Parts: sequence; C-alpha cells; structure tokens
Amino acid sequence: MTLHIPFDNTYAQLAPQFYSKQAPEPVSAPRLLAFNNDLAQLMGITPGDLPEMAEVFGGNRIPEGADPLAQLYAGHQFGNFNPQLGDGRAILLGETIGSDGKRRDIQLKGSGRTPYSRQGDGRAWLGPVLREYVVSEAMHALGIPTTRALAAVETGDPVWREGAKPGAVLTRVAASHLRVGTFQIFAARGDVAALQRLTQYAIDRHYPDAQGPMGLLRAVRDAQARLVAQWMSVGFIHGVMNTDNCAISGETIDYGPCAFMDTYNPSQVFSSIDRMGRYAYDNQPGIIVWNLAQLATALIQQLDDPQAGVEEATEIVHAMPGVIEREWLSRFAAKVGIARPQEGDMALIEDLLERMAAGQADFTNAFRALAGENASDQFLDPAAFDSWAMGWRQRLETEENPEALMRQINPAFIPRNHRIEEMIAAAVDGDMAPFERLNLVLARPFEDQPEHAELKNPPRPEEVVAATFC
Ligand code: AMP
Ligand code: MG
Ligand code: MG
Repeated sequence: MTLHIPFDNTYAQLAPQFYSKQAPEPVSAPRLLAFNNDLAQLMGITPGDLPEMAEVFGGNRIPEGADPLAQLYAGHQFGNFNPQLGDGRAILLGETIGSDGKRRDIQLKGSGRTPYSRQGDGRAWLGPVLREYVVSEAMHALGIPTTRALAAVETGDPVWREGAKPGAVLTRVAASHLRVGTFQIFAARGDVAALQRLTQYAIDRHYPDAQGPMGLLRAVRDAQARLVAQWMSVGFIHGVMNTDNCAISGETIDYGPCAFMDTYNPSQVFSSIDRMGRYAYDNQPGIIVWNLAQLATALIQQLDDPQAGVEEATEIVHAMPGVIEREWLSRFAAKVGIARPQEGDMALIEDLLERMAAGQADFTNAFRALAGENASDQFLDPAAFDSWAMGWRQRLETEENPEALMRQINPAFIPRNHRIEEMIAAAVDGDMAPFERLNLVLARPFEDQPEHAELKNPPRPEEVVAATFC
C-alpha cells in the first residue's frame, strides 16, 4: 500500500509574510515508532508500508500535495515580549479535511532547522516526543481539546541535551497552529493588512459565526476559558503558557514540561524553566486572562476607531474571569456529583479542595473515590473528609444520579509523571511496551480496567518526579 494524504492547504495560500517555505531536513535512519491509525482514518489518510511512513514522518520524503513551511509568530515568554519567534524546529506539511468535516494541520516537530531557529538545532529528542504523544492522546481521551499525535519516528541521529540522546520527530495534528503570538507579530510590526487578513482567516477557520476582530476575541475568550477550566478539572499543569503556546482554536498546544499533579497542591509547579511559578496550577486561570489581554491589544490595532475598540476589548477581557469561574464551577460541581450548581456549591467544593490539600490527597484518586465507599482513605486525616461528606451527602439527596455523573467526569487514569519517565527510559533502551500500554489504558480513562490498576497508583516516594524538562 502507498501512503496517501489528501492535502487541502490554505495557510500556504496566504501571503509570504506569514511563513517561510521550508522543507524538513533529512535524517539518517528513520524508523517508525508509533502511528495513530484511528486518527489517520479520521483524517482520510491511507497508511503505507513502514519504510515509506518512516521516510515521510521522519521528514526525508515530502508527500504528494504537501507544501512545507515554517510559520512566523512572536510571543510573550514568561511575560517578556519576544518580537520574533516562529517555528524553529517544526514544519507545517499542510492540511486535510477529515471525514468529520474538520480541517487539521499536519506538522512535523523536531524536523530540523528553519529561518526561525536562532541558536537552536531544530531537533527534538525521543523523551519529549513520546511524552507529547502519550499526554496529548490522553488529553483527547479525557475529552479536552488538544493537538494530537499522528506518528513518532526515531531519526537515527543523536541530539545533544546534556549528553547525546536519540533524536525523534513527532507528527502533530492541530485544528490549526494559529497562536496569540501569530497576531502579536503583525501588530508589533504595524502591518495592519496582515493583521486583517489573519483575523479573517482565523474567523473563517475556527469561528465562522464571529463578527469582526472583537467577535473573534470573544470567541477565543470563551474557548480558552473552557479549556483552562478543563485543565484544572483534571489537575493538569501546562507549564509554559507563553502567548506563543496559546492556540486561537482553544486546543491545548505545545506539551513541553507539562504534568498532571499527583498529590493535590494548588501552587504546584513542575517545569524546570518556570522558576518563579508563573505557570503554577492555580495561576493558570489568571494567566489565560493575561494572554487574552495580549490578543486584545494586538487585535484592536486594525480597528477604524481604536478608542471604541479599547473599550469593547477591555469589557471582553474583564468578563473573562467570570466566564472561567462558571466553566470551573460546572466541572467541579459535576466532579462532586452535582449536575446544576446552586448557591453554596462553590463553597462546598472549595472546602473539599482545602481538605484535600491539607490531607495530601491524590487529586485524581480522591475525586474518583467519591463515587465509591472509601473516599476517606485518600486523606491523611479521614475524619476531615467525613465531616465534609455529611453536608455533601445531604446536598446530593436532590441529585438524580450523582455516582454516574462522577464516574463520567472523574478519570480513573491520568498520564502520571513517574509512568511517563519510566516509559521514556524503556523506549531509550528500545522497549516500546510501556509506551503501547500507556496509550492503550489512557484511551479509556473513565473505565476501571482492573488489570491495569497499578497505573492508578501515585508514585512511591522514590518514584516522585519533582521537575519536568522540555
Ligand atoms: P517552545 O518553548 O517549545 O514553545 O519554543 C519557543 C521557541 O523556541 C519557538 O520559536 C521554537 O520553535 C523555538 N525552539 C524550541 N526548541 C528549539 C530547537 N531545538 N531548535 C530551534 N528552535 C527551537
Ligand atoms: Mg511553542
Ligand atoms: Mg515546545
């Protein structure tokens, strides 16, 4: 069989200031490590034989219909504006329209240098590639908007990251790779025509009902508010919420030093590069508002009446915390079995979270246990749970089927850091079995799967991963 990708490219049709046409750099000995057949099918891709797939997804052969390019963008990194970033190690091959009618980008990540690489080598190593593969697919299975993983290829070339590591390329699939930073670069350059073109492109592609730049801002606000509330609801910490890692589509993008929490700690940070804790778990709702303000600042520069624009944009941004709170409350209410939150439910949930923090409860397991018999076992001091649970059980008396609701929203399985690290270590030794197993189990996170029960366990003290690296 021959690999066939039914490309239908639109970004490559935009004017050249949006990108640099650039082919991936060839690699020595590409070997296909993983291929996502379900996603391929959805995208209308016909798989080919293994060597051919390794050639294409390793970047050695450009498939028919692809129009490879590196995208340009800017971004605030840890609060500081960088006026030019861009794909320094990624190549957009093109887009397909799936059997679900959805347009998706196909991007190779780790595919070599581009005009935007600066000092970087344009490469990725196996660890982060497999982490992104597993975590993004797990996120998808959790029902949270995210980029996805189509393929992983080992390159046969070493990459230097505190020693030689095996190089790899991830094929990432996204609703698009438009970022807040894509708007920022043209705003910073005062290129109003490009900003207008980009705005229309984003509206057409993602929010066809949105009216003009402020309509787009409102739509992105709502999508981002929902996304962050969903992250919070599964204990996910993105780790690098720079504006260049903030997708206009509302998908989770750029899995670097991200992590799911084990023990609940609202100020948890894992990322080794987030020294100030800017992107700590409970800072995420605030940061997403900050990022939206940067998008607003960029968008208003194309308005005929910027002063009126400032007022409207300010109103939209100022409403965002309220939108996040509603999204947060509806999810956390469901996590405790409440279908439609009422007055007082917020306090009930916050009380539980405080007791979870004090009781060093495992975030995932404590919520999952709520639908069972022994939730108090999840707390250092079981009495702290029991005293909370009296009021909670009373509240649930008017709910129809709280157990079913809780089992639908509280996963049994998340991609735990220590399992990811263990999977990466095995893969470096040539053993892909832990990778396969994680993908299999995490594809059905709401099913108990007793044969895989040990993957639910939090790390033993010696297994705890304190920091994550990209
Ligand atoms: P990130 O923090 O991964 O979102 O990357 C921020 C910027 O650095 C983007 O412009 C990336 O393309 C670029 N970058 C990251 N890693 C590399 C690398 N190894 N080589 C070249 N550019 C890179
Ligand atoms: Mg990035
Ligand atoms: Mg990255």
